Amino acid sequence: MSEGMPEDLAALIKEKVVHCFQCGSCVGSCPTARAIPEYNPRRMMEELILGRWRGVLSGRMIWLCTLCHTCYEVCPQGVGISHIIVELRNHAARMGLAPPEYLNNVRQVASTGWTSPLTGAVQRIRKELGLPEVKTAGVEEVGRLIELTELGRMMGEQRS
Ligand code: SF4
Ligand code: SF4
Repeated sequence: MSEGMPEDLAALIKEKVVHCFQCGSCVGSCPTARAIPEYNPRRMMEELILGRWRGVLSGRMIWLCTLCHTCYEVCPQGVGISHIIVELRNHAARMGLAPPEYLNNVRQVASTGWTSPLTGAVQRIRKELGLPEVKTAGVEEVGRLIELTELGRMMGEQRS
């Protein structure tokens, strides 16, 4: 185990990631890789196998995945990259390595219930497209859930 690596991350690599034989099927089917050439889930697995987990956790690649699970379906080795990426994000967040814009997004969900700002332009386009008016979400419950999880602590730490 690499020095300092959280035990559950080491276990995940041992149980899942080491089975990656670098065929590249995940990259070939990945919509993010099509849009962002430097995004490469195969290489992420390679870095983990080679023990370069700190670089993976502190990089921005893990935050670019759309979690569409296509890589999960095509992988002949059952590595389950999309699930691994969720775990990597969790570890990165716990270690204070989540990008500030991620936490800003959480703050927005907490205060508005929406993942994207509902601007006047968005409302106008929705109306033009004949889409229904967006109702206000129950932000009190959303905020309470965030406070009850580690997200509340992480946001607090970043503010201080
Ligand atoms: S498809 Fe699976 S085995 Fe092939 S490179 Fe991706 S994770 Fe590795
Ligand atoms: S889950 Fe992420 S890595 Fe996998 S195919 Fe979708 S965008 Fe790519």
